[in-house]
Amino acid sequence: MTGIQIIAFDADDTLWVNEPYFQEAEQKFCGLLEDYLPHHSVSQELFRTEMERLPLYGYGVKSVMLSMIETILRVTNNTARPELIQKTIEYGQELLNKPIELLDGVQEVLEALKGKYRLVVATKGDLLDQERKLNKSGLAHYFHHIEIMSDKKEKDYYKLLKHLDCKPENFLMIGNSLKSDVMPVLEIGGHAIHIPYHTTWAHEMVSHEVKGDNFYTFETISDILPKLLS
Ligand SMILES: [Mg+2]
Repeated sequence: MTGIQIIAFDADDTLWVNEPYFQEAEQKFCGLLEDYLPHHSVSQELFRTEMERLPLYGYGVKSVMLSMIETILRVTNNTARPELIQKTIEYGQELLNKPIELLDGVQEVLEALKGKYRLVVATKGDLLDQERKLNKSGLAHYFHHIEIMSDKKEKDYYKLLKHLDCKPENFLMIGNSLKSDVMPVLEIGGHAIHIPYHTTWAHEMVSHEVKGDNFYTFETISDILPKLLS
């Protein structure tokens, strides 16, 4: 892996735990509607709302909260007790107040790479929430730049690279999502490392195999160091 100048890290489920918290909130949400539908059907209804609203609401906790409220109204045919809405808001606020749990090896990897590359965070989600998480994580000082992106498609990466004044061949993206962190970056000529997390949001799933000369997969974040420090 030669010519890398900037390394960008995804945040959720790459630097710290995220998806398990969302799944926990979703399970509690499904419990709220169990008088109306079985849990897995509530999950499906919620996912349907989220996908319909994604262009309008974008990613993040507050978007999920709105989708949950819309799902309650649809599933109950607008007869929901206000307590269900109140509980949903509570679950969302709990998500926003979760402590930050760094994934194993993250701190050591950033420590080893700092000064050798320009390090960047490139993440989706609510602006305020991601800023709060980054501050709570204690990792902010490792990064030259933090980019909170409304989406992670090719055009979004072009914009980021232009802002960073970096050519694709000098750019490496590291993340847990093939769809958001790997495929668009390879497509524009950058390098990508996939570090799978044990659980993935359905929206980020990819069914086909990803291949490319500039693409690597590692089991843990610590495994990238030999590749980047040699
Ligand atoms: Mg992620």
